[in-house]
Amino acid sequence: NIDTFHMNEGHAVFAYVEKARGVSKNEREGLKKHFAYTCHTPVDAGHDRFSVQELSAVLKPEDFEVVEAYGKDKGDSINLTLLAINVSGHINAVSQSHQNVMHRQFPKYKERIQYVTNGVHHHTWTSDRFKAVTEKFRPVFGDIKANPMALAKAEMLKENQEFRQTVWKAHQDNKSEFCSFLNKWKLDKDVFTVCWARRIAAYKRPSLILQDIRKLIEVAKTRGPIQVIFSGKAHPKDNLGFIDINQILEKVDSLTGDYDFLKIILLENYDISLAKMLISSVDVWLNNPLPPFEASGTSGMKAILNGVVQLSTVDGWVVEAQDKEIGKFFGYRSGEKEIGQELNLRLKDDSQELYSALEELVTRYYQTNKKGTVDLTSKWIDLMINCISCGSRFNTYRMLDEYKKLIWNIP
Ligand SMILES: *Cc1c(COP(=O)(O)O)cnc(C)c1O
Repeated sequence: NIDTFHMNEGHAVFAYVEKARGVSKNEREGLKKHFAYTCHTPVDAGHDRFSVQELSAVLKPEDFEVVEAYGKDKGDSINLTLLAINVSGHINAVSQSHQNVMHRQFPKYKERIQYVTNGVHHHTWTSDRFKAVTEKFRPVFGDIKANPMALAKAEMLKENQEFRQTVWKAHQDNKSEFCSFLNKWKLDKDVFTVCWARRIAAYKRPSLILQDIRKLIEVAKTRGPIQVIFSGKAHPKDNLGFIDINQILEKVDSLTGDYDFLKIILLENYDISLAKMLISSVDVWLNNPLPPFEASGTSGMKAILNGVVQLSTVDGWVVEAQDKEIGKFFGYRSGEKEIGQELNLRLKDDSQELYSALEELVTRYYQTNKKGTVDLTSKWIDLMINCISCGSRFNTYRMLDEYKKLIWNIP
C-alpha cells in the first residue's frame, strides 16, 4: 500500500524495476508518479554505472529489459542515475546551487529538476546550553523545539546586552567542557579554535589549511595563537583519503618548535557524538570543499545552531546563506565547465585566500576575547547571533514541509 517510493541516490532504483514486473510497456509510464528521486552529490563516485554485460548476467531478462530501456548511457553502460531520473515523477537536488549543477549535468531533464535544500534536526544538534539560551528568552522565541523558524527572532535581541552575554557564556561553557574532555592536550578556552571535521573525500580538501604551514604559523604569531582540530573518516577503499591523513600527520610532526602558537590535533573515530561536541564547542567551523562539488553539506548547519562562526568556500547550502553575515567566505567560485574535473583541487590559490580570511577572523576574535575578558559589544558576537538566526532556515522542519509540497503532494 505504499504510495510513493522515495529513492535517495540511484542505488535504490531497483525498487522500480521490481514494481515494473508484469506491467506492460504502455502502463509503465503510470508507475512514474509513485517514484521520486533525490540526487545527493555531483561527485562521480556517487553515480553507479555497470556494463550491459555485468547487469544482463545478474538480472532476469524481464528486469534487464526495463533497466536497459531507461538506464542506457553512452557506450555499453547502464547508468543508475539516468535510470532513476527516467522512472521518477519528481527529481530533486539538495540545494539551490546543486540544482544549477544538476541542470548542467542533465540538460535534457532541466525542466523537471527541482531543489529542496537539506536541513538538520535542530533539537538533536543544538547543545543543551544553547537550548537553555532560547529557553531563557522564551517570551521572544516561543517554543523552539516545535517551531525552529522562530530562531530568526535572535535578530531582534541583537542589542540586548543580557542576550549577548548569555550567548557568549553558553559558547564558552561548551568550549571549556570540550577542553577538559581533551585535557591531556592542554587546549585553552581563550584561544581561537577552528575545526575541520567531516568524511575525508578529496573534493572536501581536508589539508587545505595546512598547504603552507609557514604562513599558518605566521598568522598565529602575528594575529594570535590558533588551535586547529581535525577529525574524519575515510572510506576504506579511498586511497586519496588515506594520503590526506598522512599529509596532515606529517605536517603536524613538523611543528614541534611552534607549538605555543599553533596546536593541531587530529581526533580519531569521528562519529555523531564527537561531531555533536565539535560543532558546539569550537569558535569557527571550517568548510572548504572545492565548488561546485558539495551538493549541500550539513555540518555547518549544525554549527550555526550553536553560534559557531563559519569560514567557508561558497558551495552547497552556504550559497543560500552567504548574505547572512555568518562568517567569512573565500576561494574559488564555480564557473560553468568543471563537472568531472574534481581532481583539479586548486589547493595553492584557495589556501592563500583561506589564510587571508583566517587572518581577519583571528584578529576579530582577539578583539573580542582578550585573555578571557570579553568585549560584549564586539562584532564577533553579532556574527554568533547571525548564525543562530540563520539556523531558522536550515532545519528538517522546513525541509520536510518543502518535500511534502513539492515532491510528495501532501497537503
Ligand atoms: C553532519 C555529519 C556529517 C556530514 O557533514 P558534511 O558537512 O555534510 O560533510 C558526516 N559525519 C558525521 C558524523 C556528521 O555528524
